[in-house]
Amino acid sequence: MSDFQVRGWCPDAWRPMASGDGLLVRVKPRLARLTRAQLLGLCDAALAQGNGLIDLTSRSNLQVRGVGEAGWRKLVDRLIALELVDPDAEAEKRRNLLVAPDWQPGDDTQRIAGDLLAMIDALPSLPGKMGFVIDAGPQPLLANAPGDFRIERDAGGQLILRADGRANGAPMATGDEAAALVRLAHWFVETGGASAGRMARHAAPLPDWAAGRVAPAAPAGPIAPGPHPLGTALAVPFGQLDAAALADAIVEDVAGVRITPWRTILAEGAWLDAAGLIVDPADPLLRADACVGAPACPQASVETRTLARQLAPLVSGRLHISGCAKGCARAVAADVVVTGREGRFDLAFDARAGAPPTRTGLTPDALLALFGTD
Ligand code: SF4
Repeated sequence: MSDFQVRGWCPDAWRPMASGDGLLVRVKPRLARLTRAQLLGLCDAALAQGNGLIDLTSRSNLQVRGVGEAGWRKLVDRLIALELVDPDAEAEKRRNLLVAPDWQPGDDTQRIAGDLLAMIDALPSLPGKMGFVIDAGPQPLLANAPGDFRIERDAGGQLILRADGRANGAPMATGDEAAALVRLAHWFVETGGASAGRMARHAAPLPDWAAGRVAPAAPAGPIAPGPHPLGTALAVPFGQLDAAALADAIVEDVAGVRITPWRTILAEGAWLDAAGLIVDPADPLLRADACVGAPACPQASVETRTLARQLAPLVSGRLHISGCAKGCARAVAADVVVTGREGRFDLAFDARAGAPPTRTGLTPDALLALFGTD
């Protein structure tokens, strides 16, 4: 019998999740960074033990797709050797930490994240989707990114501890931040927060030491594709990397890569020869969302991403192509929404996936003709 557990939610490397194309194995790079050697090793492992596709997640993690049951343990061992997975499954489960991806060596984000990682064994067991956010750069970047216990900066530059769902936070003395995050996590558990599941849904009044009156500073927008002080930001179409193309594209002088929560990677110090990655902020694919579709998702009856590549240049505004009415790739409305159903597509405008359509039963050719190709 194999020694992995398949769970339906919050997977990690030790608890892979089944999908239509095999197991999904999540990788949580420390401080959202992979060295060049780690990235090349990950690409090699994804090709050997997976189907060569690697997803980016909204928590700056990666998912190796298409892993067979027989190859899973070998993949985990390779990821441990690359120091991308903790050999202790419990420590790996607790290591849910999102950092501002543009951190610099020696800055507050790196310092606090390092302190928290050193205290990981002191954390209580938390509901699976909960996590920590260290957003201590000069201007907040992660205000809209998921996370329950947060270190942020106020408009005057002071670091604050903020419980997600509360408008304000408590000022922190330098060096106290990680211990305060751990303390807040224990408070959450001790006050029955686990039944609420997330900090934002836990209505208990905060303790005095965490109930501040200081608002976080206004956030900056996500890092856009193009030149960046650390190197180059590259958008990843649909958040999916091709391991073979990526391995070929990593030039010698790329020291490492940061994973952002915005389907973008940040190459340190040099341009990648960007195979399939986007450096032009005006590229129409940046306005398109498309889930993995068929055959990778068993809920889908249609292919999604080839159609999205064809349709995106023809659509003005936001395009969402969804394999089914669930709408995994985009939870909010898009200007043009195409939803798969029984092998054909339904079309709606200014709507979410699965909304009442204006046209039904369309083929890909019919859709392309509708938006302007012969
Ligand atoms: S929207 Fe439907 S088809 Fe697409 S990934 Fe989600 S469940 Fe699968």
